[in-house]
Amino acid sequence: MSYKHIVIPEGGEKISVKDGRLAVPDNPILGYIEGDGIGPDITRACLRIWDAAIHKAYDGKRKVHWCEVFMGEKAGGIYEGDYFPAESLEALQDLIVSIKGPLTTPVGGGFRSLNVSLRQELDLYACVRPVKHYDGVPSPLKEPEKVDIVIFRENSEDVYSGIEYQSGTPENEKLAKFLRQDMKVEFFEQAGLGIKPISPFATKRLVRKAIQYAIDHDRESVTLVHKGNIMKFTEGAFRNWGYEVAREEFGEQTITEEELYSQHGGKRPDGKIVIKDRIADIIFQLMLLRPAEFDVLATMNLNGDYLSDACAAEVGGMGIAPGANMADHVAVFEATHGTAPKYAGQDKVNPGSLLFSGVMMFEYIGWTKAAELISQAYAETVKAKIVTYDFARQMDGATEVSTSGFAGAMVEQMESGIDVKAKQQERMKAIEAERREREARRVERPFEEMEESGRTPTTVGDIMTRMPVTVKAGTKVSEAMHMMREHGVSSVLIAPSGDGKWGIMTQRDVVSRIVHANRSPATVKVEEIATMPLVTVPVDMSLYDCSSQMIGANIRRVVVAQNEVPIGIVSDTDLFRSVEEFGWLPE
Ligand code: NAP
Repeated sequence: MSYKHIVIPEGGEKISVKDGRLAVPDNPILGYIEGDGIGPDITRACLRIWDAAIHKAYDGKRKVHWCEVFMGEKAGGIYEGDYFPAESLEALQDLIVSIKGPLTTPVGGGFRSLNVSLRQELDLYACVRPVKHYDGVPSPLKEPEKVDIVIFRENSEDVYSGIEYQSGTPENEKLAKFLRQDMKVEFFEQAGLGIKPISPFATKRLVRKAIQYAIDHDRESVTLVHKGNIMKFTEGAFRNWGYEVAREEFGEQTITEEELYSQHGGKRPDGKIVIKDRIADIIFQLMLLRPAEFDVLATMNLNGDYLSDACAAEVGGMGIAPGANMADHVAVFEATHGTAPKYAGQDKVNPGSLLFSGVMMFEYIGWTKAAELISQAYAETVKAKIVTYDFARQMDGATEVSTSGFAGAMVEQMESGIDVKAKQQERMKAIEAERREREARRVERPFEEMEESGRTPTTVGDIMTRMPVTVKAGTKVSEAMHMMREHGVSSVLIAPSGDGKWGIMTQRDVVSRIVHANRSPATVKVEEIATMPLVTVPVDMSLYDCSSQMIGANIRRVVVAQNEVPIGIVSDTDLFRSVEEFGWLPE
């Protein structure tokens, strides 16, 4: 392909896609857009750091051949006023992996935002925003190091689709009339109207990408964020389609959180990604209170917009938060801040956002050693309090440097030798210890964990009392009663004695069949007063269906069985407690 103004560097090779995966040579051509305002300053600094890191990490055996692609004001000068040249779009598609600085959106004149146009033209449907704390970076949290998440925000639909009708226009009135007359819905006069499309196609491609990322990066969980308790057919559907794609396409690599508790007793099987979901407003609280529990988050467009900025602010990272917009393979990494025009050309601002977008980009092409080296050199430089003006004003005793000065300090850090492997191992050890600690809590106090971690119970497996107390057939009632008291339970299970039938003896059986029947608990055997066979339900039965079973059979507890072996009991008390604590939304 030949371009008018874009020069493909000689000596480099293009990245390609083979068998659905990126094929990256040792001398890849990567695209870069300098950006407007502070863009040139931060791009210059980052190119210097990236090149130095790659050289150091791979002893000169790997090298990026950078290809400048034009967009924004610089493009306007080159392409006769065209800020969004067609050949730049072609180049981004052709090179597959690129990085860009911020772009000015010209005010007035009917310009669409260049960033929005770019996403739409290249169908970059996933906005990926890692949020992680770096040592020394000022943060409002007490333990910011516990935040290490990656948000996958759907980028192509939701209320951002632009299907909106202004109050008072003929289109608005036409739609309002249809809704009132044909759909029989009510709303205030002259309301502006917007449509929120959420499709299985867009949801699944986003969640698929999030799960694949979690698998490739040894993450623990993927959380589907939604407000499905209120908007069932859009947000609730997002949740359901998310679970569907996990089950149908990643059945071997994933388990649901419900299965984690009901089938694995809270212990995550090695290598399995736990798929869970949380209500959107609760996730904001949890990201402040229990951030370590979250790993990869998959969100719709609007929720993700709010959440990614809120999370970035938690780790003091608004100025350094990186990001990327991605299609299946084509990816454009980008600084998430704007062009900060008042600082343009002053060599003053923090290059962190673009720098870490570069880290993401190197991870994306599999150059993890270079990515790790940059992250660690950054942490060391900031720890030494060598920072740009924005951090300097929040730190005591900082040495304020320019953008290029910061790049120089980082390159020096890298040259002075950082033991990347040792630091990486140290971090992995800390993550492992954290994971084990949480696992122990899930095993020991599952109900409390559920409550504290913002999870809403939906199945009997979520609320059952695990490991029911079991006695052998032939045990005397008095002995079973002592065990019930000792364990604080109101029933015991009777193990089968050969007929394969399990039974249950409850406090009520003792009242009616011992006390009321005037018999001695010391001589009567448990199976004589127990109920057999058991009424059992599967572990994934919904709470609603469970209540129907209990009411239908006129019983106060059911046994939860798996492969015909009882694994728990659900009683009136458990249902009561669940509804009291988590509420009940009628189906
Ligand atoms: P902005 O450019 O992000 O700047 C707002 C403030 O954020 C700056 O004044 C500065 O704060 C701080 N800041 C931003 N980048 C920084 C950096 N690298 N280092 C340190 N501090 C940094 O937002 P804006 O002023 O609202 O937008 C300006 C232009 O950027 C607009 O034309 C907008 O359309 C465009 N924009 C582009 C993108 C994009 O291309 N992705 C994104 C957002 C906005 P202090 O003043 O406190 O020092």
